[in-house]
Amino acid sequence: FQLNNADLVTLKNLGSGNSGTVSKILHVPTQKIMAKKIIHIDSKTVIQTQIIRELRILHECQSPYIIEFYGAFLNTNNTIVICMEYCNCGSLDKILPLCQNKQFPLPVLKKLAYAILSGLSYLYTTHKIIHRDIKPSNVLMTHKGEFKLCDFGVSRELTNSLAMADTFVGTSTYMSPERIQGLNYGVKSDIWSMGLMLLELAKGVPVWSDDDGDNSSSDHGGPEGILDLLQRIVNETPPTLIGKINPVTKEPYDALLCSFIDSCLIKDDNMRKSPWDLLEDTDGFLKGVVAGEYEKDVKSWAKGIRKLHKDKSEGEK
Ligand code: ATP
Ligand code: MG
Repeated sequence: FQLNNADLVTLKNLGSGNSGTVSKILHVPTQKIMAKKIIHIDSKTVIQTQIIRELRILHECQSPYIIEFYGAFLNTNNTIVICMEYCNCGSLDKILPLCQNKQFPLPVLKKLAYAILSGLSYLYTTHKIIHRDIKPSNVLMTHKGEFKLCDFGVSRELTNSLAMADTFVGTSTYMSPERIQGLNYGVKSDIWSMGLMLLELAKGVPVWSDDDGDNSSSDHGGPEGILDLLQRIVNETPPTLIGKINPVTKEPYDALLCSFIDSCLIKDDNMRKSPWDLLEDTDGFLKGVVAGEYEKDVKSWAKGIRKLHKDKSEGEK
């Protein structure tokens, strides 16, 4: 079906990032709940039309690990509207503060890692797409404990238009060393980002927050802070959980989790594994995930998160 503004009723605001604003909407003719992302771009009409054309490939991306795409259209006043599947537990950055001890439980991390690897592997092997922006706000969860990727770089023109509008759009602390250095980068760059994200979710604090005293403290707020941080990612030894004590449990982190994260955070991308290589290692960290060993745990955990989510948004009203 063709999407247009007249058929969409906004239900609530879900948040906004560097590039746009997302809201929960109802598509009246189909009575379908969707997420709508509005992106402002000040480029020429030809470029805007090209972006919409490039986004069409999203129709072909069909996987349980990828957010479903319903359509995109140009709006008056230089905006592009993208309609996609709505995920009722939101993104991982919003889920983390709701977790007990502000840490993701181990079974959830296993299922999450498996889902991300499957999504990345699907995008690359089927469509030659590299995600390019793996981070907690771009991984969404449903009340069934399913994880799905969104906001991957399918449209070259869209990426260009956004990059021109602001130098720091697309610069993120989840970026791999090879990408920060402007070298050629590929699908393994997403593995670095995933490793960093898993480390953050396991620990409960952002990786570069200098909380454990083994790094010099500095403010990463402004552009200068960001540049300094990017330099550190390139020059310093990668972060690790090996040998660290979980401040909440007072115990070391799970050994398989530690080595899995370490294998993602190898600075030399030639030595770093690809998504399909990591998926093949079914005797390590991911053991039991395919067989559904953690399914029940993760499901009931997700149900709890869903409830906290609901309570929270009711409190906001
Ligand atoms: P950035 O612009 O740097 O990528 P971001 O990912 O936080 O940051 P958006 O992609 O604009 O910014 O998303 C804003 C918020 O909307 C997200 O943090 C997420 O919580 C929510 N969101 C996005 N897509 C969906 C969706 N399909 N279902 C439910 N919530 C969503
Ligand atoms: Mg996003």
